[in-house]
Amino acid sequence: MSVSQCAACKAIVPRHDTVHAVSDEHSDRLLCTACFNREMAKHAGIDDFDETKFEPMRLPDARGTVHEFHFRSLLLGDKLSLEAFDTTSEGQPSGYRFQMLGDPLSDQFVLLGKLIEKMRRLLAVAHVRHGGLGLQIVNETIRGRIEWDGVEHSHMPCAVVDGRRVEWDELGRMLMTFEGWQFKLEVRDPSDEI
Ligand SMILES: [Zn+2]
Repeated sequence: MSVSQCAACKAIVPRHDTVHAVSDEHSDRLLCTACFNREMAKHAGIDDFDETKFEPMRLPDARGTVHEFHFRSLLLGDKLSLEAFDTTSEGQPSGYRFQMLGDPLSDQFVLLGKLIEKMRRLLAVAHVRHGGLGLQIVNETIRGRIEWDGVEHSHMPCAVVDGRRVEWDELGRMLMTFEGWQFKLEVRDPSDEI
């Protein structure tokens, strides 16, 4: 597991437990989730914010592969973002990620319940599968996440579909099944259910 040091409390924490923060007083700093939330609570004037820690959870995807999800709560001003991510692909532009927004002062277990329901719904759908011609789109809809391809000086994306990394070229090749068809591309916030 890759680790990083929090710029505020100096704790060594897992990479997934950090956030890049920019404020008026500081330039880009890497903070642990706890320090980020503490500073954000102060900034937003929330005195009684209590960050609930949730244990990792294992859930299967549509292919039956079990993924371990870690959770974290991030205070974003007047919203609380509860995020779940697949740590098997930590630091890579791949893996499932889910986010649910809620009220920071409401019961965080209720928000967790809603997030888990959403995860189950989305994990149950497979958009691509391996066929005779390589990876293919199962139906006529493909949902995923846009990520940077990680190649230095590259301004090219890769996509993450069904928790797996799909190269931009590969996505193009898969779309050739639909040559002559129309398409509609809509980008949505990470917390939206699409
Ligand atoms: Zn810290």
